[in-house]
This record gives sequence, C-alpha cells and structure tokens, in this order.
Amino acid sequence: MPTVTSLPREVDVLVVGYGPVGAAIAGLLGRYGVRTLVVDKSPGIFMAPRAIALDNEALRILQMVGLAEDAFAQVVIPCVRMHCPHVGEFGRINTAGNIDCHPKLVTFYQPELERALRANAERHLSVSARTGAELVRFADEGDGVTAVLRTSASEESVVRARYLVGADGASSTVRGAIGQKFEGESYAQDWLIVDALGVPGRFDHVEFLCDPERPTPHMIAPGGRTRWEFMLKPGEEREQMETDAKIAELLRPWVKVEDLRIERKAVYRFHARVCRCFGKGRVFLAGDAAHLTPPFAGQGLVAGLRDAANLAWKLAWVVRRRASPTILDTYDEERRPHAVKMIRLAKFMGQMVMPRSHLRAILVHGSMAMLRRLPAMRAFFDELGIKPKNAFGKGLFVPGGDHVRRGAWLPQAIVRTADGYVGPSDEALGPELALLGLGIDPNKYLSDRSRRRWSRAGGRTVQIVEGDIVTCAAPHEWCIVVRPDRTVLQDGPVQEAERVVRESLRLLGTPG
Ligand SMILES: Cc1cc2nc3c(=O)[nH]c(=O)nc-3n(C[C@H](O)[C@H](O)[C@H](O)COP(=O)(O)OP(=O)(O)OC[C@H]3O[C@@H](n4cnc5c(N)ncnc54)[C@H](O)[C@@H]3O)c2cc1C
Repeated sequence: MPTVTSLPREVDVLVVGYGPVGAAIAGLLGRYGVRTLVVDKSPGIFMAPRAIALDNEALRILQMVGLAEDAFAQVVIPCVRMHCPHVGEFGRINTAGNIDCHPKLVTFYQPELERALRANAERHLSVSARTGAELVRFADEGDGVTAVLRTSASEESVVRARYLVGADGASSTVRGAIGQKFEGESYAQDWLIVDALGVPGRFDHVEFLCDPERPTPHMIAPGGRTRWEFMLKPGEEREQMETDAKIAELLRPWVKVEDLRIERKAVYRFHARVCRCFGKGRVFLAGDAAHLTPPFAGQGLVAGLRDAANLAWKLAWVVRRRASPTILDTYDEERRPHAVKMIRLAKFMGQMVMPRSHLRAILVHGSMAMLRRLPAMRAFFDELGIKPKNAFGKGLFVPGGDHVRRGAWLPQAIVRTADGYVGPSDEALGPELALLGLGIDPNKYLSDRSRRRWSRAGGRTVQIVEGDIVTCAAPHEWCIVVRPDRTVLQDGPVQEAERVVRESLRLLGTPG
C-alpha cells in the first residue's frame, strides 16, 4: 500500500519512526499479515553520514524482511586492519568469506538501504506508511494504546492500536513517555565523519589508524565512496572542522584533494547507553530508541535489526492469536543482554582505536600484538571469536539441546527439500514457524490433532532432504522447531515429533 494521506483510525501495531529499524519492523509485520501503521515526523529520509557497515547477521535479517540481494549496493570487505604508529599492525580481523550464506562484512549507503526498506514495507497491503506525522502523546489503556499524531501545524489525528513500537531514534519520545531513561556514558570526544566521492586508487578494506594524535578509521563504500572518521582534538570546534578548508587539510596526507568531491560531512559525539527495559505494557522500544553504541564495532543498526527480527514475529503471533501475550516479555529478556554485550565490545574496540597517550598506545597495542603471537588468541581475535554470539541465555525456547543450540539461530545453508526446492534454507522455512525434519517427513510422526494445532499456531512442516543443516547441525531423522526469527525453539528425534510440537505449543501459549 502506498504512503497514505489520511490516517487509519485503528490498527494492530503503530510503529513510530520510519528510520531503518521502523521500516524493517513494518516490513516484517507486513510479511506476517499484521495491520500496521508506520509514521515519521520527517518528510524524507535522513541523509547525514551514519551507518556504513553491516555484518552477516544484519544481512540475514534483511533477507528475512524480504529484501532481494541486489536491493541495495554493497562492497564486500575482506579484512579489518588496526595500525599503531609505534607497534605497526597489531590487529587484523579476517572478514573474508560467508556465514549463513551472507558475507561476514559489507559496507553500504544507508539512505539507499532505507529507501529499499520503505519500498519493501509499502508493498504489503496490510501496511500503511505516513511521513510528516509526529507522535505527540499516547496513553496505554491496558487493552490498547491511543496515540495522538500531529500531521500539520493545525491538525492532529487519533489512532488506536493494540501495540505501539517506538523506533523513534536516539531522542525517542516513546522512551521518555514510558518512563525509561538511558543509562551509561557519553564519550568526551567528538568525531568528524566525511564521505568523499572519486578517491583514486582506493584500498579494499577497513583501516583503523589508531594514532593517539588523531585516530582516523577509513573505509571504502559503494558508489565510489570513501569514508574517513577524524577524532577532534581538545579545543577543535564543530563549525571549524566541517569547513572545506579544514577537511582538505585533514585529507591531504591520503589523497590529492582536488581529485575528489566531499559528499557528506557531520560531527557526532558517540554514546554507550542502554535503557533498563525495552518495553512497558503494550509499548516496546527498538533500535536507537532502546540502545546507543559507539560505532567502532559497526553494530548500532545491526542491533536495531536484531530487535526488529525478535519483536515483529512475537507481536504478529500475539495479534493473530497464535500465541499468548506473555511471549512479549521475552523480547526484553532476549534482546537487552545481547545489546549490552555488543556495547561492551564496541567500548573495547574504542580503547584500541583511541588510546589517550603515546604511552598507552604502546602498552595497549603492544599487548594486543603480543597476545596475537599465541595461536589460540590470534584465532580468537582474527576470526571474530570476540564477537558475542547471537544466542540467548533465557527466553522463548526449551532449555538444553543435544545437537542444535536452542535459543540460538539455526545455521543457514543451501538445501534441497522434499518438494524439490534448492536454495538457502531460510527461504524453505518461509516466514512461518517451522517444524523441520532432517532427511525425513516429520508429519508422519504427528497425530491429526497436533497437525491441526500446529497449523493453527502458524506452523508448517518442511522436510530437508540434503544440505549442510543435515550434515552439520543435527543427525538424520532429527526434527527442529524454528521460530520465524530463525531461533531454535526445541528439537529432538523425529520419532518424538509429537512431544516436540506439544512442548513448543505449550511454551508459545497457543490457545486450544
Ligand atoms: C557516525 C555513525 C556511524 C555509524 N556506523 C554504523 C555502522 O557502521 N553499522 C551500524 O550497524 N550502525 C552504525 N551506526 C548507527 C546507525 O546509524 C543507527 O543505529 C541507526 O541509523 C538507527 O536507526 P533507527 O531506525 O533506530 O533510528 P533513526 O534512524 O534515528 O530513525 C528514527 C526515526 O524516528 C523519527 N521520529 C523521532 N521522533 C518521532 C516522533 N515523535 N514521531 C514520529 N517520528 C519520530 C525520526 O524522524 C527518525 O526518522 C552509526 C551511527 C553514526 C552516527
């Protein structure tokens, strides 16, 4: 459905904020057939330089949202190098290759991704989108939320929704209204971000120049772009740093400035902050509204996309009466600890990137270089062992699991299914809750009643005949219950499929 001019009076979910996270949530809700209104106070897409890197997890979620591989341009990054003026190269993260059918690291152009996400959301009949509509206030009345939206200086509209999602960014109105505050720190330093076009002889990787005089990460991006990030020194002011003359002076050591064009520039202060709870009652927070990370690990938007994947299907299953509203409590339980771990990783990276003195650079970078001489440590750092796994300690899954890790994503692989499909396994699973049979049809082991109940709960069955999921994740004749966000909920021998399904439905609180 195209962008609407008049607002619907009643929807299932009102998404406030049509940035990348709000657009991803709207796209997912559309895929699950939920009546959704997504609004944004700004008339257009935010054009300032922000996210540039996405990992394989983000790309898998974008696949889940329904974006085609070529929906936005990407440059695959083979490695991230960390360089110290005293120690030389002290870190080198290997980002070549794929995980779960997606490159480990790509760079991209955020406005292009946002356009693709919006077009994707608006192709669903159940989704209405409206820009130039600001959430002014709302009340959670226990059985629904009534929201007041300002659509012009003299016009306000009232929308009633069963649930409200605040994806309204760092200065979220929704966060304040539910009494949540950010906890954590803001950095003392500001950073100048510069995107330039037409840089000749660009390198192919991400380079962190960790110079205490002026830390300067730089990297390539699609469309012939190169990004530089310059930390401001004490006494340097935003206005002065954003002038063409100053930018030319900063870039001169790298390039012939006359050869390039500055496309975008902005000064930011970074934050490492998270709120205590990602929701209250019928209202939830997602993306920058819930957490802010310094960008050193390239994880701010990625974390927001993880929120989108986790929250959207739970809302959809509740709204469509396939699951009990209590499953919504697991959104905070699953997502917040992981977001906190990612922020810790970004802060650790920040200590590497911006050592406060030459002595500290020698100590910190030198220790890192020494540690990497030990093969186990080298593998840990270089192969991203340091990155927190997208696996939950507590949440909506049956604890345990012998062959597959429950509460973690099922690996994605190229598979062949019994009905002849060959391709990435997530496409075989579809947007549903899935009962996978590895090498065998799990239906054979389900009673008619369980089959009916499974289908009423939005469940389908898929038989995988061949593929790495069969050989790596679990043995033949195994069955796995996979949530729509690709998290493993339960598993067991296929002969026990009846029990596996019963326990899954109990956990979901599926009626009847
Ligand atoms: C310099 C920099 C580099 C970064 N690099 C990376 C990176 O490499 N990788 C990565 O993953 N992340 C990165 N990030 C973070 C990433 O850009 C953000 O996490 C992401 O853009 C947040 O998306 P969002 O949808 O949550 O919020 P936003 O994009 O801020 O969208 C929120 C929307 O809500 C709207 N809104 C606000 N209030 C209201 C209201 N009351 N009513 C209606 N609408 C409202 C706003 O107009 C806005 O459009 C970087 C950030 C910066 C600043």
